[in-house]
Amino acid sequence: MRFYELFGQLVSKMTDMNKPADIAGIENLLIRISSMLRLSKGVTRLYRNPREEELGLGETLCCYDTGKEGILIHKVRVVTSVMSIAEMKVYMEESEPPLTDTEFERVDLVMRTTVSYVSRNRLRDIVAELAYRDDAGYLNIRSLESALMKKGRDGSLAGMAAIHYNLRHFSLINQQVGRECADEVMRAHYDGLAGLLGSGGQLFRLGGDNFVAVCAAENLEDALGYLYKVKVPYTLNGGGEVTVRSSAGIYRIPRDFRIENIGDIMEKILNASRAAQTGTEGRIVFYDETLAQRRENAKMIQQMFPDALLNREFHVYYQPKVNVATGELGGAEALCRWIRGGKVVPPIEFIPVLEQNNDICRLDYYMLGLVCEDIRRWLDEGRKVVRISVNMSRRHFTDPDMLKTILGIIDSHSVPHELIEIELTETTTDVGFKDLKRVVEGISEAGIYTAIDDFGVGYSSVNLIRGLPWNVLKLDKSFLPLDSSASDRVSDIIFRNIVSMSKEIGLECVTEGVETKEHLDILRENGCEMAQGYYFDRPLPVEEFEKRLDIVSYYRR
Ligand code: C2E
Ligand code: MG
Ligand code: MG
Repeated sequence: MRFYELFGQLVSKMTDMNKPADIAGIENLLIRISSMLRLSKGVTRLYRNPREEELGLGETLCCYDTGKEGILIHKVRVVTSVMSIAEMKVYMEESEPPLTDTEFERVDLVMRTTVSYVSRNRLRDIVAELAYRDDAGYLNIRSLESALMKKGRDGSLAGMAAIHYNLRHFSLINQQVGRECADEVMRAHYDGLAGLLGSGGQLFRLGGDNFVAVCAAENLEDALGYLYKVKVPYTLNGGGEVTVRSSAGIYRIPRDFRIENIGDIMEKILNASRAAQTGTEGRIVFYDETLAQRRENAKMIQQMFPDALLNREFHVYYQPKVNVATGELGGAEALCRWIRGGKVVPPIEFIPVLEQNNDICRLDYYMLGLVCEDIRRWLDEGRKVVRISVNMSRRHFTDPDMLKTILGIIDSHSVPHELIEIELTETTTDVGFKDLKRVVEGISEAGIYTAIDDFGVGYSSVNLIRGLPWNVLKLDKSFLPLDSSASDRVSDIIFRNIVSMSKEIGLECVTEGVETKEHLDILRENGCEMAQGYYFDRPLPVEEFEKRLDIVSYYRR
């Protein structure tokens, strides 16, 4: 075949932009042309910038080599508009007679064409790379989109898992080891996870410390273990190791899943991930339809709340607390009920939602107001009155005006402080503890009673009792056996000791969830003086409760 025929084919392969580059075909043509032109070797190299060229770090492309030793006979070098450099060198065996002028022109022509092709092609790669990677070189959301759509089309998405995760407290890691080092940690964490995602797995950064992974089903457990907690080594700043924890939302993609756009998956994993971040669901949360349902529900409750409050849809129910020894009414707990369209909505359905923002604080103050109205009325009517406890969410702890607001409400109804008790639940962190201490001390100084609610669930600690001037300890119902045969010795021992300890410190003890005669006997045997529970009464509407104010003893009715 003649030179120009081969050269023509080469040019058409190099200029066909519609197909993926046929590098093997191009190299094959180069070999044929080179042997025609008596060359022994040709190497094209690309440097992304002048510094890479200086260090000899470029990548080799379009290379052919007959394996025969040769000397350099020509070199072509071009610098592109983005300062990348392409160069080509060709070699010839020493024994060969020198190139004729015509041959040299042809060699030069092939080389210039090749170099220009390689640099142009590379330029396209660089542009593509910029579009599909972020500044730090991580695959970005655009890559995610194209990967998901491609996998969706070819069916390989079915059965995989999509994960959205957030590196927890990464700003603290930044502070701890410094910016540069934290970048290294993030990279190492990313690379570590990328290696665990299995066949077809890929990893993308959405921005900041938020990532999305696509993971093979059989690798999911390993990937989640890694996300839950991993020690990541670094080399900068003298080297070291940090523990990185993530919160993650996962969607297992069903076999018959059809993806129309990436929102179909993103919405689900972001939902689950948000639940994982807020912590009520644990740090790893799988998406399911009920999760979406719950969020919908929560949104609706938050929207309805302000009007419901104005329309006085929230009511106080009073649950009596009974003196175990005498059967006398010793107090009551005010519990909120939302009466909506004639139906009673229990707190479990709306309190956790209102606790997601400060709505709960408005509700708590409203409840305290209702309780004070009732107490004032009972006092004015000359009835016997007992102390009423009101629940205050821990959402209040960071509000510096909490005490002022509480006192404002109580005093505006001229209710004696000792008739009000505030129930608070324990907190888990030291920061929370400082706020709790300020709140409890303030309330106590004002002569209002304070109670630790739900003691025995979660993270209750003895330190909580030690450092603060509490009046009442409310033991959670989990200390009582579910039925008489289920009595558990360890719970019994703990229960007995908590009761005797709190009495020794001078705390009044109330056990919640007293449902049966057996439960009441357990309280009696262990010296717990107050009981609250269905055995005596459920939470009652105010008219019902008012009847209880007049009874002498629950044991003589
Ligand atoms: P809590 O403060 O621990 O209230 C005691 C809960 O135990 C009440 O549930 C009560 O109805 C239930 N209970 C009482 N006796 C028994 C029994 O014998 N057996 C069983 N299984 N349960 C019993 P409720 O009224 O559904 O309230 C649930 C939680 O909602 C309360 O737990 C409290 O944490 C919260 N809550 C209720 N009202 C308010 C409020 O006005 N403000 C705030 N912040 N939280 C409230
Ligand atoms: Mg309570
Ligand atoms: Mg409780």
